[in-house]
Amino acid sequence: MSKHPLQFLEIPRRGPEKEPPEVRIQHYSEIYGSYDGADAASQAGRCLSCGNPYCEWKCPVHNYIPDWLRLIEEGKLFQAAELSHQTNSLPEICGRVCPQDRLCEGACTLNDGLGAVSIGNIERYITDEAFKLGWRPDMSNVIDSGREVGIIGAGPAGLAAADVLARNGVRSVVFDSYPEIGGLLTFGIPPFKLDKEVVRRRRQIMEGMGIRFELNTKIGEDKSFESMLDEFDAVFLGMGTYSSVTGGFPGEDLAGVHEALPYLVSSINREIRPNGPGEADIDLRGKNVVVLGGGDTGMDCNRTAIRQGAASVTCAYRRDEVNMPGSRREVANSKEEGVVFLFNQQPLEILGGDHVTGVKLIETELGEPGSDGRRRPEPVEGSEHVVPADAVIVAFGFRPNPPAWFADSGIATLQNGRVRVDSIGEFPYQTTNPKVFAGGDMVRGSDLVVTAVFEGREAAEGIARFLAV
Ligand code: SF4
Repeated sequence: MSKHPLQFLEIPRRGPEKEPPEVRIQHYSEIYGSYDGADAASQAGRCLSCGNPYCEWKCPVHNYIPDWLRLIEEGKLFQAAELSHQTNSLPEICGRVCPQDRLCEGACTLNDGLGAVSIGNIERYITDEAFKLGWRPDMSNVIDSGREVGIIGAGPAGLAAADVLARNGVRSVVFDSYPEIGGLLTFGIPPFKLDKEVVRRRRQIMEGMGIRFELNTKIGEDKSFESMLDEFDAVFLGMGTYSSVTGGFPGEDLAGVHEALPYLVSSINREIRPNGPGEADIDLRGKNVVVLGGGDTGMDCNRTAIRQGAASVTCAYRRDEVNMPGSRREVANSKEEGVVFLFNQQPLEILGGDHVTGVKLIETELGEPGSDGRRRPEPVEGSEHVVPADAVIVAFGFRPNPPAWFADSGIATLQNGRVRVDSIGEFPYQTTNPKVFAGGDMVRGSDLVVTAVFEGREAAEGIARFLAV
C-alpha cells in the first residue's frame, strides 16, 4: 500500500508513552514505553523522503535513516535491523541516549513546526523488537582471518570496534576492569535512561558473534600491556575519560561535595548490587542538593537525587538555557521531576566549615564568543548571592587520565592527556605505536556515546587495513 503524501500532516509526531513524573520518580526503571508495530510504521511513514537526508549527515554514524524508516513502514523489521547494524554497533542504545534534538531529529525537514520524525524511538524499536523475535546479526559470510585484536575498555568505542572487527573476520578479546561490559553505559548512565538489561543483552549478542570478554581485569595491574602487545596482532584503546574536571574554586574538598561520576556509580551500584546498599554509597535523601553543570551528566545527577528523595534539587549553569550542552529532552525531564534551574549563574565558592552549607554564585551575562565559538559568560559585578545546600555535586565533565604504561609503550598523548592519533592517514586512529589504535573519549575528549561508537568503528576499519584482512 503506497503511503498518503500528506501523512506527516495527518499523523502528528507521537512518541511512546512516558510515565507521569509523580510515578516515575518513585523508581529507577526506564520512563518511556515502546512503540508497537503499527505505531512504529505510522510514525516512520511520516518521513517525507525529502531527498536531502540532513538527518543522515547530522547523525554521527551516518545511519541510513530514510531507508530503514521505509522498511519499517513496509513491515520489513529484520531487513531494517540488518541495515541499521551496517552503520551503528549499538542502535538500541543510541536510540535511547542520543540527544536527537541536537542531531538527527534536529536536522529533520519536518522539525520546522510539524514535528520531526521520531527517529530515535524508531531506531530503538527496530533492534529491541528484532532481538525479541529472534533476529541475530548474520555472520554466515564472515571468513575467519586468523588474526586477533586485544581491546582495552568495554565501553561504546571498544564494543563498536569489536563489532566491526568481528564482521571483518578478526577475533577480539575485550578487557575491562569493571565486572560488566558497557563502561559508562552500565556504570554511569542511570537505569531510568538505559535499562541495564539492554546492555546485558548486547553482551550476549556480541558473545554470539564470537567476541570474548575478560572482565574484572585491569591492564597494567592484573595483566601487563607488554603481554597484550605480545599476544595480539594489534591493540585498540577505548578507555574513555574518567577523571572529573574540577571548578578550581574554594570549597570543592568540603564534606558533602561529590564528583558526579562517583555519585552516579554509587547510585547505580545500589540498584544493581544483589545485597543492597553498601557503606560507601552516597545517599542524598532529605538533603538540599545543588548540582553544578548543565550537561547530560548534570541532568543524570539531578534526576538521581530526586529519586533518592532529596528535599530539593537546584541546578546552576553559567550560560542561558539555549546554550546548555545537555539534551533538551533531559532538561525537560529534569524540570518535570521537580528540579529548579538557575541559569546564568556561575559558582564562585562552596561554603561551609566541617560540611558544605551553601554555594556562592554570581550572575552572568553572555559576552563575545571564546575560542570554542561559544559566547563566554561574564560575571555581573555586585550580583553575588548564596544558595543554601547540604550537598553539592560537581558535574563539569571528564578528562582523560593516561596510565603510566602509555609512555613506556611509545603511545604519545597531547598536552591535555588525549591520545594522539592520525585520523586521516593510511590507518585511521593509529597511535604513535604502530600496533596500537585508539578512539572514543580518550582521543576526542568527553563526548557522546554515538561519537565514541563512530570512532570505535572507524578505528576498527583502520586496524583491518593494518592487518591486511
Ligand atoms: Fe539519531 Fe543517534 Fe540514531 Fe544517529 S545514532 S539516528 S543521531 S538517535
